[in-house]
Amino acid sequence: MQAILAAARDAAQLCRLVQERYLVASAKSSGAQTEPVTIADYGSQAIICRALQAHYPDDAVVAEESGDQFLQLVSDEQRGQVLSLLAQVLRAPVSEAQLIAWLDFGVNRSAARTWVIDPIDGTKGFLARRHYVVAVGLLRDGQVSEGIVAAPGYCNGAGALFYTRDGATYRAPLAAGAGERVSVSQRHSIDEYIAVQSYERYHASKSRMGRARDYAGMGAVRLLELDSMEKYALVACGDADLYMRLPREGSTYEHKIWDHAAGVALVQNAGGTVTDLDGGPLDFSQGETLPNAGLIASNGAHHGRVVEAVQRVLAE
Ligand code: AMP
Ligand code: MG
Repeated sequence: MQAILAAARDAAQLCRLVQERYLVASAKSSGAQTEPVTIADYGSQAIICRALQAHYPDDAVVAEESGDQFLQLVSDEQRGQVLSLLAQVLRAPVSEAQLIAWLDFGVNRSAARTWVIDPIDGTKGFLARRHYVVAVGLLRDGQVSEGIVAAPGYCNGAGALFYTRDGATYRAPLAAGAGERVSVSQRHSIDEYIAVQSYERYHASKSRMGRARDYAGMGAVRLLELDSMEKYALVACGDADLYMRLPREGSTYEHKIWDHAAGVALVQNAGGTVTDLDGGPLDFSQGETLPNAGLIASNGAHHGRVVEAVQRVLAE
């Protein structure tokens, strides 16, 4: 995994360079809606897939971006920009054909191991200079097993690299250096609980999540709002205790596995609990769509009580 960790660090560095120099978004269609995409999304995915191709040539990949979409959406000027940033970060020249081949590495393949990549999770946060992450998850036979989350915004912009290894979760400095083992919080007292949720109000129902906290006796807990899978990382390392994602009323949004796989791995390997809204497991075995309506991730202490409160809200 060392090479993939190094690639996640390089990808996060490329994202920072794009933020400093060329922060422009294109709109791509995603289901019924449009989502922003930037050259950093393509550059980041290329760096990760390059490492996977070198070290895991027979594995399968499910990733958010594609070579086709790059060719459709990215102007000649932007292509030049991303190729020069890739050359800088990888310290070697990169051709457009190489970039496209990396973007499409491992797709439409089936293998025992599937890598699940969100090259920038929280693109809206990235554009607004809030929080975002580079995320790489690993499924073994359809089950979440490992996760890597590079979080440049962690700890007021100090940044961190979160990853799993041998059934544990680690946090390392983002730039370089070894990780220290982390685990979910031991907080049992609800008075001290810290909850996290999406910043974007269209991504989850803030009113439903507020009511669920009220019903669970957590109406007065501290609440932090931030973009991206960094929320899972905060639960995994004990900085937060509860992350809920409840759909807005009437939402037909379909979650994608790349928005969750790496984060779920961090929390589970750190001793926490992640379930669907009814307390059952999330289902990562159905291709790129995650068929679950929402999720609850926690340190495990009051998980059942939150599930009951969420069920009450959904029944209203
Ligand atoms: P977060 O920053 O945790 O709110 O999550 C960011 C992710 O939310 C993005 O990667 C999108 O794939 C996903 N997303 C976009 N629109 C929606 C929506 N309407 N409902 C739920 N999730 C969404
Ligand atoms: Mg995403």
